[in-house]
Amino acid sequence: MIHRNDTQSNTLDPENWEELRAQGHRMLDDMFDYLQGIRSRPVWQPIPDTVRAEFQEPLPQSAGDLAQAHETFMNSILPYAVGNAHPGFMGWVHGGGTPVGMLAEMLAAGLNANLGGRDQIPVEVERQVLRWVCELFGFPEDASGLFVTGTSMATLIAVSVARHATLGPEVRTLGIAASGKRLTAYTSKGAHGCIAKMMDVAGLGTDALRMIPVDAHYQMDLTALEQAIAADRALGYTPFFVAATAGTVNTGAIDPLAAVADIAKQQGLWFHVDGAYGALAMLAPELAPRLAGLERADSVAFDFHKWGQVPYDAGFVLIRDRQQHFDTFASPAAYLRRDTHGMAGGSPWPCDFGPDLSRGFRALKAWFTLQVYGAEKLGQVIAHTCELARYLEQRILATPELELLAPVSLNIVCFRFRCNDADHVNAAIIVALQESGIAAPSATTLEGTLAIRAAIVNHRTNKGDIDALIKATVEIGTAKISS
Ligand SMILES: *Cc1c(COP(=O)(O)O)cnc(C)c1O
Repeated sequence: MIHRNDTQSNTLDPENWEELRAQGHRMLDDMFDYLQGIRSRPVWQPIPDTVRAEFQEPLPQSAGDLAQAHETFMNSILPYAVGNAHPGFMGWVHGGGTPVGMLAEMLAAGLNANLGGRDQIPVEVERQVLRWVCELFGFPEDASGLFVTGTSMATLIAVSVARHATLGPEVRTLGIAASGKRLTAYTSKGAHGCIAKMMDVAGLGTDALRMIPVDAHYQMDLTALEQAIAADRALGYTPFFVAATAGTVNTGAIDPLAAVADIAKQQGLWFHVDGAYGALAMLAPELAPRLAGLERADSVAFDFHKWGQVPYDAGFVLIRDRQQHFDTFASPAAYLRRDTHGMAGGSPWPCDFGPDLSRGFRALKAWFTLQVYGAEKLGQVIAHTCELARYLEQRILATPELELLAPVSLNIVCFRFRCNDADHVNAAIIVALQESGIAAPSATTLEGTLAIRAAIVNHRTNKGDIDALIKATVEIGTAKISS
């Protein structure tokens, strides 16, 4: 063993490790207690002004106390999070997290690995998860992929690779304008806003994204897609990218992936799938057939932090053509020199496949989640959230005060309380539900009608939580119309 003198006063390590250890164990226990007892808490609660004011303090100059900071966390931070770990949380599309993921985050933070590159096993862990994703999605073994913050960043990477594949390497030096081409992209009106946002960030502009109408099932209308492509070609545009969605945020609709793949192939377009939450339905054998065509995508953007229950953040981008992916982002730099031996080995590095250089060890919490729970169990959890959505649908159809507003495709249910001035009343019901702490759906609009939207993503949610949502909605709605 190499001995080093470890007595110096400038380190941030503690003088008394025993004390730190005891405090650390208390912190860990508090989080286990929180997760174990989460049902007895409100989903969310309004934030008192006094609590908000605690976070308006000047920069601390002198040393504070860890136990004190932990107490502030327990009293003023933990109770006022948005509550997506709670089984009553059904707003937006948020994952619930798991105790295993939490522990993995602690290990990753302790190791403090930087996964931009270099020869290290943490990068191999990320590559292991990539190979599992390829296996799950039916992608070739040599496809490339990367952990990123979320589907938004994954979409930016996919759009960038598609742009590079269309315009060639000069686009990296000369920019888009030099090509003289006007690129256009296609997605459905039900698509997530991150696609338009990343068209903007990639320099293509949001107007270049054509929003294709949807049918009665909220799936992309393929005739309209073909017409839009033809119309653009006739006007001298260069159609380059089509994004289908596997599980839309609004209604959980799945675009006809195989048919979109066919059109993309005929037209020479890059075929992207936004599978932010839906792609991991591949883990559930009863749902996987509905994603047929996913295996033909040129790129897939998805999140482990939604249906995969991995703690935030854990997005992923998968790109079929490894060379195109590398060519889009790889940049030589003297200080990033590669070698065949030593720490600078192991090239290509993750930083060659995306905009980030420094990157955390997100892969570890995903690796732990798959390793400990296994694909089968995670698939069962996903399938169960869809069963609960069907149960909620049945309860709505059997409750005269309520009205279903969209077909239930996966795990998202849109409905409302029947009454006059329904948009106004239902918006108020949603806020009252959230403030009650019983259940937390969110709002959306479907063809101009405001809907209560319950997205069942959390592995902790059960039938009792659905019953509680129905009961509270009817009670609050009834009270609102009679007051
Ligand atoms: C959540 C979601 C996104 C955005 O993903 P982030 O991880 O929040 O960036 C995009 N598309 C769909 C369909 C989503 O559900």
